[in-house]
Amino acid sequence: CGIVGYIGDKQAQEVIIGGLRKLEYRGYDSAGIAVLTEQGLLVDKAKGRLAVLEGKLAAQPLAGNAGIGHTRWATHGKPSDENSHPHTDSSHKFAVVHNGIIENFLPIKEELIAKGYAFTSETDTEVIAHLLADLYDGDIVSTARKAVQRMRGAYALGIMTEHEPDKLVAVRLASPLIVGIGEGESFIGSDIPALLEHTRDVYILNEGEMAVLTREGVQLMDAQSGEKIERDVFHVDWD
Ligand code: GLU
Repeated sequence: CGIVGYIGDKQAQEVIIGGLRKLEYRGYDSAGIAVLTEQGLLVDKAKGRLAVLEGKLAAQPLAGNAGIGHTRWATHGKPSDENSHPHTDSSHKFAVVHNGIIENFLPIKEELIAKGYAFTSETDTEVIAHLLADLYDGDIVSTARKAVQRMRGAYALGIMTEHEPDKLVAVRLASPLIVGIGEGESFIGSDIPALLEHTRDVYILNEGEMAVLTREGVQLMDAQSGEKIERDVFHVDWD
């Protein structure tokens, strides 16, 4: 339902929770966050209001400067801690947040289970995390492209991997997604209000587009062909 991603110098947890709060008007049943910490990629998530997650994070903050967060509106699998996003692969090296529905998740899930991957949720989304781990070729951008080429349905995705700590990947099809450009920081958001506190310079992703985010900036490309896309930054001048 709501997606926020961050890479920069600030504490990712603060930027992400603040952004998700701005998206609360959309309604949701659970919330979660993944942050790249000194202990690796760590996830915290909980059924219920953002305040439930915030309570857990207050007791045990996730310190780090890159992360992705999500508020979920369940479509596949009941609202529960396990079904909340982010979802990770079995090695906890890849994390994904997802808005939308992966229509062909079942055959992909069956294939991955046959290969030995263990699923921990009832969601369509979890297949993406295992698919990324299965397809990983040392480059999260080409791996994410291969993964989305397998997927049918609607998706806005935020993707990160411990293997490439200086990068986030965003990609969308039939579900809205934007990226924000800051000074030494970059953002993912499912809607502009999530980012307005930090930046007014955004790219609004078109159908089938992928964005690669680093602290230095954002590169857009076509998710199918991998061809780079140059576009003028959109400046948001409303409040
Ligand atoms: N289909 C996914 C799920 O049920 C994503 C739902 C959403 O858009 O929040 O977990």
